[in-house]
Amino acid sequence: MHHFTYRENHLFAEDVDLTALADEVGTPFYVYCEATLRRHLRIFADAFAGTDALIAYSVKASSNISVLKVLASEGAGADVVSAGELHRARAAGIAPEKIVFSGVGKTRDELSFALDANIYQFNVESEPELVALNEIAQAKGQRAPIALRINPDVAAGGHENISTGKSEDKFGVPWSRARALYATARTMGGVEIKGVDVHIGSQIDDLAPFEAAFKKVAVLINDLRSDGCAIERLDLGGGLGIPYGEGATPPHPDAYAAMIKRVTAPLGVQLIFEPGRMIAGNAGALIARVIYVKDGATRKFIILDAGMNDLMRPALYDAYHELWPVVKSSDASEAYDVVGPICESTDRFAKARTLPGQHAGDLIAIMSAGAYGASQTSQYNSRPLIPEILASGERYAVIRKRPTLDEIMDGEAIADWLR
Ligand SMILES: *Cc1c(COP(=O)(O)O)cnc(C)c1O
Repeated sequence: MHHFTYRENHLFAEDVDLTALADEVGTPFYVYCEATLRRHLRIFADAFAGTDALIAYSVKASSNISVLKVLASEGAGADVVSAGELHRARAAGIAPEKIVFSGVGKTRDELSFALDANIYQFNVESEPELVALNEIAQAKGQRAPIALRINPDVAAGGHENISTGKSEDKFGVPWSRARALYATARTMGGVEIKGVDVHIGSQIDDLAPFEAAFKKVAVLINDLRSDGCAIERLDLGGGLGIPYGEGATPPHPDAYAAMIKRVTAPLGVQLIFEPGRMIAGNAGALIARVIYVKDGATRKFIILDAGMNDLMRPALYDAYHELWPVVKSSDASEAYDVVGPICESTDRFAKARTLPGQHAGDLIAIMSAGAYGASQTSQYNSRPLIPEILASGERYAVIRKRPTLDEIMDGEAIADWLR
């Protein structure tokens, strides 16, 4: 569910008219509905009401500080994967005791930074990371609260590039080595074992792989306890899919929660969740303008002013996004390849998509772009990062401005011998 609706054939984000907004801020831009962000966080939280659960929003899905503020005001914590994301989460007012730190390649500087911030949990992904964290924490006279991220060897995820829980994926500690590594961690003075962590992939539209992974982890927790480890937390990661308008419909959070309660109730642990896409995905759209409509040799192209640098998902994961005309017309429909202006063949948002007849100047909304959209953007082709707008009722705010052409060279310098 989201808050993009048509009123008299004009698309609105909450009560904000996107045609007027496009004239005001220029295209392309991202727009988010605050009401959708809040609603999705609440649906997730309500599904686990009555259980001891921390919802640590996965910051990488959409990391704008205003988005984080909205979610923080609903009680969300944060799952961060870099010092930069930790810095953002803190700047948005998220308390350190609600922040977990994931990621396969945390640097020593990042570990040190997170120790200084007194975060809730380090999700450690390898033995060398464990050794490094132990050393750094001991040098500071601290004990780092840890979970080991276990790779349960379960295939899941909407695309092979977003599966993370198979044995050949780079993530986590191999299933077969988990107990031994916990035993090692128990001997370390700079870490304190708190729990077990698992995250098997993203855009998962079926409960079965989750259930398979979580059952394996439940067995591991019992084994660890019999080894003498006090396991009080279980971090189940993120990964719940959202409807992108095509194909399977992912499970409702209530069904996801019912399965999890069934599997984890006997364990008596605090649950931690790291949802990203499920919170932010359908809260955002990318609004672009048609620059040209071009007749190719075999097909018609719509060339937008947004490109793959603004929304990478189609190029990166073959992702499907619905395309909605911002102003509905009764023009006869045609099949178009919808592409961006970048000099790459993968710069394409849709192939042979049927849309009402399009003309230069028309606006198109690329839907369900709120997660892994703005947070993945780059300035490739020296295109300025596009603005992000937050809509809230009739109000809107520019929550990231479009840099000027001078600003996109910020930080660059001419080497002195070239001056
Ligand atoms: C990306 C990621 C998430 C969020 O995944 P979603 O599919 O967006 O819910 C959670 N945890 C970890 C460790 C991640 O890498």
